[in-house]
Amino acid sequence: MNKNRYAGLLNGLKASKVEFLENESMSAYSSIKIGGLTDLIIFPKNERELVSIINLLKVNSCGYYNYIIGRGTNILFKDDRICLPVISFKKFNANLSENKKNKLEIVLEVGAGMPLSKILNHAMKNNMGGCEFFYGIPGTLGGAVKMNAGSKESVIGNITNAIEIITDEGLKYIIKKNDLKFSYRNLDINGIKDNYFITKAYLKLYKASESKIAENIQIFKKRKSSQPLGDFSLGCIFKNPPGVSAGEIIEEIGFKGFSKGGAFVSEKHANFIVNKGGAKPDDIISLIKIIQEKALSHKGIKLDMEIKII
Ligand SMILES: Cc1cc2nc3c(=O)[nH]c(=O)nc-3n(C[C@H](O)[C@H](O)[C@H](O)COP(=O)(O)OP(=O)(O)OC[C@H]3O[C@@H](n4cnc5c(N)ncnc54)[C@H](O)[C@@H]3O)c2cc1C
Repeated sequence: MNKNRYAGLLNGLKASKVEFLENESMSAYSSIKIGGLTDLIIFPKNERELVSIINLLKVNSCGYYNYIIGRGTNILFKDDRICLPVISFKKFNANLSENKKNKLEIVLEVGAGMPLSKILNHAMKNNMGGCEFFYGIPGTLGGAVKMNAGSKESVIGNITNAIEIITDEGLKYIIKKNDLKFSYRNLDINGIKDNYFITKAYLKLYKASESKIAENIQIFKKRKSSQPLGDFSLGCIFKNPPGVSAGEIIEEIGFKGFSKGGAFVSEKHANFIVNKGGAKPDDIISLIKIIQEKALSHKGIKLDMEIKII
């Protein structure tokens, strides 16, 4: 790491008591447990710390673009050293509060660092329906909103009333539903360029009986039992092309169980690539390329990646 380049930034972070680590392996920050080193990873705990980080980055000219990560459950980190600061939401605000709209509707105000599993637990304990599809989706609320995470039954965009963001200029905005352009595993915001930090979301749930929630969750429990959840992975590698399942296509072109180094196309679900130990980022990337090429040449189908590669 270039100490001179970061000296001002590191001093500023220390003075503001913001947590950071130098020369960290990104494998610890991705659910597939693969990745090279980063010069610097910073862990803001709240908006105040995030804004001081943004100001420090600017004052110390430490790169216009900074990597934003949640729990890294959808990100493959390459072997190349990351020479711009990574900002992790692992320790960011995970508070949750309830605003009752009326007898039937509840709006949850949730910090971006909160894992989806905890939101679902809260909803279940308090008889709130609408987020049962969070079952088995790892990651933070912020990552889920950016990815419009979900399943064929529902996606987080359907239950998001508004979000709060901080731009790379350190400006805070509340963005209402009409300006949130959710699409398949993506969010764009009208009038805002992509480099923003999601800090909070307002989720609209409804009162439901315990038995109804349990019944709804069964659908997702069943689905998740067909996925290799015990292995290190990034969830589905490819988006489903319109009307077809990427997993079925991969199986049909003969890649189930296919491996490269320590990376395997899961026997359980062909749209998952799992790290059985010692897999390298390049193993995953070459598996992705081989699968894409064969899907195109044998089926005429273009498989687009769902995961992000950094
Ligand atoms: C076993 C397994 C099962 C999965 N099942 C599903 C599933 O059923 N459905 C589904 O949709 N996904 C699924 N996923 C993928 C993944 O869990 C989701 O996309 C999740 O929402 C990502 O959250 P994260 O915090 O890990 O985000 P990350 O992977 O860290 O980041 C994802 C993207 O969001 C951005 N981002 C993260 N946090 C913020 C923030 N606060 N502000 C702005 N941008 C941010 C990052 O820059 C990146 O572009 C699965 C993954 C695994 C490993």
